[in-house]
Amino acid sequence: MNAIYCKTCHEILYSYAQRHFNECSCGNCYIDTEGIRVGFKDKSKLVELELNTDFLFKNLILQHDNIDFSKMGKFIIKPTSNEKFYKQAIVNWEEFEPYFRQVVTKTKLDVFIEAKEKGLVQK
Ligand SMILES: [Zn+2]
Repeated sequence: MNAIYCKTCHEILYSYAQRHFNECSCGNCYIDTEGIRVGFKDKSKLVELELNTDFLFKNLILQHDNIDFSKMGKFIIKPTSNEKFYKQAIVNWEEFEPYFRQVVTKTKLDVFIEAKEKGLVQK
């Protein structure tokens, strides 16, 4: 495992350095020190992932437009997420695929309602 996925906020988190602490938006889980330290409130909401960290993956990161560089170390799975990218990036893709499907098959309205219920959207 060098990354984790939070089933609640649909984020993939990884830690790329010694003191790089990375927590998911809902606060359920975190990863630290290149994946050596992982913590959670509810383990059932967490999926362990193995990311491809070779040269290809680094190139993919640079090409991938869903990345917010201010949140380096975090991917947010959205209905528009690029399946091909994640297939190449995640070594244990088959294990992750059902969770990915749950998000990408949702409509934008479903996602909005879900976010609203969690208080992530104002109004
Ligand atoms: Zn979360």
